[in-house]
Amino acid sequence: MAPVVLKFGGTSVGDAAAIGRLADIVAREVRPRLVVVSALSGVTDLLVTLGELASAGDAAGVGRVLERLRSRHATLAAEAVTERERATLTPTLDATLDELHTLTRPPDTRVWPSPRDRDAVHACGEQLSSRLITAALRSRHIDAIWIDATDVLVTDDTHGRAHPDVDATTAALTGAVSRVFDGGGVPVIGGYIGATPDGVTTTLGRGGSDYSASLFGAALGAAEIQIWTDVDGMLTADPRIVPTAHLVPHLSFAEAAELAYFGAKVLHPSSVQPAVRAGIPVRILNAANPDGVGTTISASPPPRVEAMTALASKRGVTVIEITSARMLMAHGFLQRLFAVFDRLETAVNVVTTSEVNVSVTVDDTDRLDALVAELRRFAEVVVEPQMALLCVVGENLHEDARLFGQIVTALGAIPVRMVSQSASRRTVTFVLRESDLPQALAGLHDRFFPPPPKDAR
Ligand code: ASP
Ligand code: MG
Repeated sequence: MAPVVLKFGGTSVGDAAAIGRLADIVAREVRPRLVVVSALSGVTDLLVTLGELASAGDAAGVGRVLERLRSRHATLAAEAVTERERATLTPTLDATLDELHTLTRPPDTRVWPSPRDRDAVHACGEQLSSRLITAALRSRHIDAIWIDATDVLVTDDTHGRAHPDVDATTAALTGAVSRVFDGGGVPVIGGYIGATPDGVTTTLGRGGSDYSASLFGAALGAAEIQIWTDVDGMLTADPRIVPTAHLVPHLSFAEAAELAYFGAKVLHPSSVQPAVRAGIPVRILNAANPDGVGTTISASPPPRVEAMTALASKRGVTVIEITSARMLMAHGFLQRLFAVFDRLETAVNVVTTSEVNVSVTVDDTDRLDALVAELRRFAEVVVEPQMALLCVVGENLHEDARLFGQIVTALGAIPVRMVSQSASRRTVTFVLRESDLPQALAGLHDRFFPPPPKDAR
């Protein structure tokens, strides 16, 4: 039977109640399952702070953070792990915490930040949580077996954002995991971390546990990857703005990638890439509502009856309008223009062009003044802050040409500043005033997202 990967994020391992729910989810799954866990909620942030304090030579600060980490894990162990399992667990937690202490003890740490040392520190969260969860599952009579992620996730040495070696990882993982499966056990691995072939610890970047889960699922040829988190799945719109927003049961990978940019609670596109390539569906599920259907992201979701999939939005966007009658049609102009954004490391989100004008949106305005100054050397520039993006997402948009007109009609008199439709016609993005966003979202949602039938969930 093809295995499943069950990944639990920080809030799903954050306290004793969460760990109880996690154990129930693992226990009721009848297929062979691999459990992947994040650090306890907030712990990776704490480790980042720890690294900063260490490099600043702040011995007292380092001591305080280490103590918080120690007591957080010890308290949870006392609540969620039996005394018998704790006898094996505690020395392993202590070993990791001692290692952290050695790594961060000033003043030897003044040479920080060395990317390699930073990874060694940041990786401790998942090492601690995976040991703890293993022991907690064993306390509930589940034959959980800890696997050291640094033995099975093989990466290059790009510290902080390591690239996995898929073949080496597949070989190491399948060996380790199948031994556990053969014995009827449940392997537990920390996400987010790996090691170089020489055994130097690395991390995959923030939020990397989803990436680990997706890599592991692909390596094992899993039936599915379940991402257990604290939301029911992907919603049709931001529920803080549109209270009638409801669950989207199915998404294509491409739709999920579009939505991810908007901070929707879906996976980061790069983190699902290995699953996409292997054709393995990824499900977002709520650990606090384990009977919900969640959102399934797959290569070819079932045909949708609704015209659209979801509305995504983002506030705090700035429009930069660049006009140059002389230059625009000259070849090389766009390159010159975007080279400015590149040099100032500012990502551009939406772009529209006309004969003499290029308008772009950015949401990172840290270097706005420098950007504008450089652009003014060869063009006229107008900046409009307090704008918003409203993105209509749906594979159906390219099936039915009438939809575009219907969307525009539903926006009514709301002034639209820019419109961008991708050639794949999977999304249409409108740039409008931030103050108009709630009304625009509500109007589109009412028009295109009728409430689902009561028994649909
Ligand atoms: N603990 C890591 C982070 O917060 C990785 C993860 O949770 O995905 O970035
Ligand atoms: Mg996390």
